[in-house]
Amino acid sequence: MDGINFKGKKVLVVGAHPDDNDFGAGATVAKAARQGAEVIYLIATTGQRGSSDENMTPERLSEIRKKEQEDAAKVLGVREVHFLDYVDGELIPDIRLKEQIVKSIRRHRPDIVFTMDPSFFYYKSFGMVNHSDHRAIGEATLDACYPLARDLMSFPEHTREGLNPHKVKDLLLYSFVPENANFYVDVTETFDMKLKALSLHKTQVGDMQRVEKRMRDRAEVSGRLGRCKYAESFVRLQLPE
Ligand SMILES: [Zn+2]
Repeated sequence: MDGINFKGKKVLVVGAHPDDNDFGAGATVAKAARQGAEVIYLIATTGQRGSSDENMTPERLSEIRKKEQEDAAKVLGVREVHFLDYVDGELIPDIRLKEQIVKSIRRHRPDIVFTMDPSFFYYKSFGMVNHSDHRAIGEATLDACYPLARDLMSFPEHTREGLNPHKVKDLLLYSFVPENANFYVDVTETFDMKLKALSLHKTQVGDMQRVEKRMRDRAEVSGRLGRCKYAESFVRLQLPE
């Protein structure tokens, strides 16, 4: 069951770091683009702290990761990639970040917004803490969709720039825990494109075989829940008119 026809849709995918969107929803993004959606990425930081290589500098890593993301996005059929250039590890869901996301929503006027699930703090079974930037971008994006982008009185300076309020009707939050999701997208056909995109995040993936196994296992679990071979899982919120 996946129930979305992406043909002719505008899709905005908002992540904290280069690679988040691809890990969380890469195969769905590829499916949407293949069906004729216009997909746009908005990424808050350049992930400049994502290395333990002593010879790497944050400035250089920033440039490398932007390029990795642009190349990966191309593989998936993403139309545009925008970065907000926040510092990795320091993202907070403040009004400045929300305003920038609202601006992007009002400019691109998406039918569907994808982002990270801000309610996901930790995962007991795997002894895992979700990165604070992931929670921050999820929270800021939810707030940007509702109510900020919708309300004429929020950020009135946008109207003067010709950007009018926009109501987002469909929100999909990447779910790291498939069992908590309520929506599964059959990505059997585009799963390999996701793997290819992830392999291009060279500074992040290290051992690609391990990443592939983890991704395949997760997609299979989601697939069982979604009654297909491979699925990506989401919490889907369809906002009322
Ligand atoms: Zn991340």
